[in-house]
Amino acid sequence: LVVVAACGLLACGDDGTDAPEATPDAADDALPGDAVADTVAPPKEAEAHTLTLVDRLPVTLLNGRSQNVTFDVPHGIVSLTVTVDGEADGMYALDHWSGPGDSTLVTSGWLDGGGAGAGLCLDCPNRIVLAEGTFAALAPNNPVPTVVPGTHVLGAFGMRPKPVAGQTGGTCGDGVCTFIEQFTCPQDCAPEPISGEVLLSVHGKVSDEGDLPDRGVLDLNLFFTGARWTAATAAEDPEFQALLGAVDTIYGQVGVSLGELTYYDVDPRFQVIESVQGGDSDLMELFRSSEGAAEGAVNLFFVDELSAGAFGGFGVILGIAGGIPGPAIAHGSHRSGVAVAVREIPGAPAALDTTVAHEIGHFLGLFHTSEQNFGGFGPSIHDPLPDTPHNDETYLMYNTGSGTLLSPWQGIVMRSNPWVRHPVEAPAAAGPGEQTTEER
Ligand SMILES: [Zn+2]
Repeated sequence: LVVVAACGLLACGDDGTDAPEATPDAADDALPGDAVADTVAPPKEAEAHTLTLVDRLPVTLLNGRSQNVTFDVPHGIVSLTVTVDGEADGMYALDHWSGPGDSTLVTSGWLDGGGAGAGLCLDCPNRIVLAEGTFAALAPNNPVPTVVPGTHVLGAFGMRPKPVAGQTGGTCGDGVCTFIEQFTCPQDCAPEPISGEVLLSVHGKVSDEGDLPDRGVLDLNLFFTGARWTAATAAEDPEFQALLGAVDTIYGQVGVSLGELTYYDVDPRFQVIESVQGGDSDLMELFRSSEGAAEGAVNLFFVDELSAGAFGGFGVILGIAGGIPGPAIAHGSHRSGVAVAVREIPGAPAALDTTVAHEIGHFLGLFHTSEQNFGGFGPSIHDPLPDTPHNDETYLMYNTGSGTLLSPWQGIVMRSNPWVRHPVEAPAAAGPGEQTTEER
């Protein structure tokens, strides 16, 4: 592991714009013309790489829906990610998505008849979930859909939950949603379709033969609020390094290893995240603070406490991912990261190491293998993968997050995500545990 200690994003001089320089990859040490070049086989081409097919294209929603957007997918395609970046207080998804022929990924009409309320398309060949602020989809995320080269067509969807007025009571039918009317008067509290602009991005992972590599590397940007660690102490702390080692071991089951790690301090006011939902939530502000961090690395924030807020929440939140999957490639969006709480909670179902691995698993596109099914009420919801056993808490992505196992198909989903890179093979110049410290 190459370790870089960098100054915080909010503490890097007055302009705050200078992102820390990336540490050169180990591969960069094997320069052409080096003395060793004649005796070492030339580096292979990267096994797979990510192309930007659509780059933050402005798309207009009218009454909750966009017109069709088309884009061309190249040969050798391995996987596609679609990101819809909207307003912080909106809920976004794809209304439909299909490729050439019969290759439907998201079924048109899924949002009607309660689909938008459920927020999850269980019947789509490629499962997607409605997301607040910034939506993302990764395909394929199970064996059913095929991602086919050629012209793809999709439409975006957006709705805004009705703000809940503080007063009690209320008159049903006046268009104002009060707390009690959430339960007694659905018509006053129904979400409203959004008319406005979103930014649409599509990224494609491609390889020569369209094959997904068996191995991949995940880089991380590590953000510290001062809760238990700072950027400086974490880089030196055996306990923190053991945490990363545990995550590396869990992901190693499916060929994913941790790569470059960059340490940042963020404002200590983020130690307690008071709200995790809503356009003005602390959590979204925290995720947006990732703007300017090292490119190509998933943002992982260590806070003291994640609070469910005054309304609607219950229990203790150990960690939250910015989406299933999170937004691809870009930093600074409403959902650009994963947050975990470091405060020790007696009786918590999961330890910090499996919580980190579980939440990043969501961010890379993994659903819970099985959702909690309270006393048999409601449907039993399982992930769309064929090789994850139902209701098995030894699995990392079971809803308690206390297990460690990953299945081969879960590995395929993780490595399909563009956050996992597939670098040129090269002898490691920096030995394990070697640290590079960048001073300013
Ligand atoms: Zn989870």
